[in-house]
Amino acid sequence: AKSAGGNRYELADPEADARAITRHGLTTALPAALDRGEFFIEYQPLVRLGDGSVRGAEALVRWLHPQHGVLGPDRFIPLAEHTGLIVPLGRWVLEESVRQARVWQERHADAGPMRINVNLSPMQLAHPGLVADTVEILERCGLSPSALCLEVTESALIGADDDLLKPLRRLSEMGVDIALDDFGTGYSNLANLRRLPVNVLKLDRSFTQGMQQFPADPVDLKIVEGIVSLAHGLDLSVTVEGVETGAQAEQLRVLGCDTAQGWYYARPGPPDRLHELALADATG
Ligand code: C2E
Ligand code: CA
Ligand code: CA
Ligand code: CA
Repeated sequence: AKSAGGNRYELADPEADARAITRHGLTTALPAALDRGEFFIEYQPLVRLGDGSVRGAEALVRWLHPQHGVLGPDRFIPLAEHTGLIVPLGRWVLEESVRQARVWQERHADAGPMRINVNLSPMQLAHPGLVADTVEILERCGLSPSALCLEVTESALIGADDDLLKPLRRLSEMGVDIALDDFGTGYSNLANLRRLPVNVLKLDRSFTQGMQQFPADPVDLKIVEGIVSLAHGLDLSVTVEGVETGAQAEQLRVLGCDTAQGWYYARPGPPDRLHELALADATG
C-alpha cells in the first residue's frame, strides 16, 4: 500500500513509525536529560598485554531514561550529533571522566598512573572550544595531560583538512594521547596515518573476532601482524578491543599488541569496579 507521500508510506509501516516516534522523542528529550543528570558513565579497563596490569579505562556514556531504562550510546549519540547536543554532552563526559581518573590516581598511587580514554565525536573536534575546554578541565581537576587519551574514529579523520587536525595537534603537543578508534573499519592508508597526530591505534573488534578459535585463521594473523609492525614502525602503540577469550588475548600478546580491552577482562562497569581491579592488581 505504498502511496505517493513519504509520510503516508511511513504510517503504513507501524514499526518504522514507532522507531521514528522514539527517535523524535529521544531527540527532543536529550537537552532536559543533560540538565537533569540522566547520563552516567561506565568504565571498561584497559589492560597491558605484557603483564595483565590495569593501565586505565575507557569512559562509555549511558542514558538512564525515565521510561525506557538504560540506553546505550548507539541509541542516542547519533541523535546528539545531529542536534549539536553532543558538544555539551561530550564536555560533560570529559569532565566527569577526568575527575574520576583523578580519584583513581589518588587512591591507587601505588598501582601506577591510571589513564582515562574518552571518545570524541567529529562535531566536538570541529568545535572551536575543544582545546581551551580540555585544558581548563584538566587544570581544574588536577590531572596531567599525559593521563588523558582522546579517541577519534578513523572515519572522522580520513580526509580531514588541516583546520580540523590543528586542535588535535595542539592537544598532542601538550602530552594528551590521541587514539585512532575503530582502526581498520574505514578506508585507511599509510600516507594518511603519517599525516595524523595520533600515537595510538585501536584495532577494531572485527580483527579480534577473527581470532576466536585457536589456532586462528592464518590470514587474520598475518593481517594483524602487519598492522602491528606498521604501527610500531610509526611509533604508535596498539590497543585491541573486543577481547572475549584468553586464547585471543594470548595470540594478540604474541603478535605484539600493547594493550587490550574486552569482556575477557571486564565489561564496562561503575567506577568502583576499577578500584577493585586495580587493587587486586597492585596486591598481586
Ligand atoms: P567504541 O568506542 O568502539 O567502544 C567499544 C564498544 O565495544 C563499547 O560499546 C563496549 O561496551 C563494547 N565492548 C567492549 N568490550 C567488548 C567485547 O569484548 N565484546 C563485545 N562484543 N563488545 C565489547 P558501547 O558502550 O555500547 O559504545 C558504543 C559506541 O558508542 C562506542 O564504540 C563509541 O563509539 C560510542 N560512545 C560511547 N561513549 C561515548 C561518548 O562519551 N562520546 C562519544 N562521542 N561516543 C561515545
Ligand atoms: Ca572508543
Ligand atoms: Ca572502538
Ligand atoms: Ca567499535
